[in-house]
Amino acid sequence: MSTTSPIKLAIVGVGKIVHDQHVPAITANTDFALVASASRNNTIEGIPGFKSIEEMLAAMPEIEAVSLCMPPQYRHAAAHVALTAGKHVFLEKPPGATLSEVADLEALAAANGVSLFTSWHSRYAPAVQPAKAYLAAHPPINMQVTWKEDVRHWHPNQDWIWQAGGLGVFDPGINALSIVTEILPSLVFLTGATLEFPENRDAPIAAELHFNNAAGVPVHAEFDWRQTGKQSWDIVVGTAQGEVKLSDGGARLWIDGKEQPLEKEAEYPSLYRRFAGLVKSGGSDVDVAPLRHVADAFMLGKRKVVDAFHD
Ligand code: NAP
Repeated sequence: MSTTSPIKLAIVGVGKIVHDQHVPAITANTDFALVASASRNNTIEGIPGFKSIEEMLAAMPEIEAVSLCMPPQYRHAAAHVALTAGKHVFLEKPPGATLSEVADLEALAAANGVSLFTSWHSRYAPAVQPAKAYLAAHPPINMQVTWKEDVRHWHPNQDWIWQAGGLGVFDPGINALSIVTEILPSLVFLTGATLEFPENRDAPIAAELHFNNAAGVPVHAEFDWRQTGKQSWDIVVGTAQGEVKLSDGGARLWIDGKEQPLEKEAEYPSLYRRFAGLVKSGGSDVDVAPLRHVADAFMLGKRKVVDAFHD
């Protein structure tokens, strides 16, 4: 049992992911005490709820850390308030709407002596570290990423996701990129992309990406929100010794056709263990590599206008 008192944590932006993942992961972790929430329209049962982060921090100065779970376009403003007030900050993915605003937060966290964590939940999927270890010893020669899902099922009526800064299909696609950037032994960079925008939306519904690196390892990625039926969250890596396949978003791993036994640890409990470690050690973990690839795709990608999308 821990001998230090738990970190007093509050959640800002209460919605789907907070109820599905954050609340269960936090309440199961003795390093944290969930003491409050701030959200314009929603609350969490059993703890005080405030309408804004400013109101919450003024009423409860004892709060030590916040998890920011609102859409990315609104994350920087809340993070700025929290870091300025000397609170440790957990950022849901993606960590912001631009690269520069995350750099601003990184500097602010350092200046205020508090921890900042850009969380990438998919990196904590069970297949990711075993795949990374295998690829460190068996260099990849190519990679195919297929991330296709039904947006109507996973993001019903989420308007923010279709607005500028909401990332569109890169909202799930960035999860794939967070795995790619974790398991590949060398950096890759975008060489070409095509982004498909519904004529009535500001964010893409599909994207095809080509990457390469100095070692000449080609990476091809396809993201599509128009998938119906079975969803595809697969990464297949060719090596001279055989194929490595991560499926179901990294929940399962095959090496050379044989499924590997994995420790089935859930992603969000691992994220909160990492955050507690950062707070206790006074460190930060700020990695924007997945977001940088998305920014590159918006810079380099060709744009194609496709049929309007209606929920
Ligand atoms: P959500 O339910 O649509 O939004 C979360 C909450 O943010 C909303 O309930 C809303 O609460 C608040 N919010 C919405 N618009 C806002 C605005 N304009 N200003 C301030 N707050 C606003 O979204 P979500 O699915 O939980 O996703 C939130 C974040 O978690 C996203 O970055 C997403 O990529 C990430 N994430 C989601 C999932 C998932 O499966 N859904 C998985 C992993 C990560 P109030 O109206 O009460 O303010």
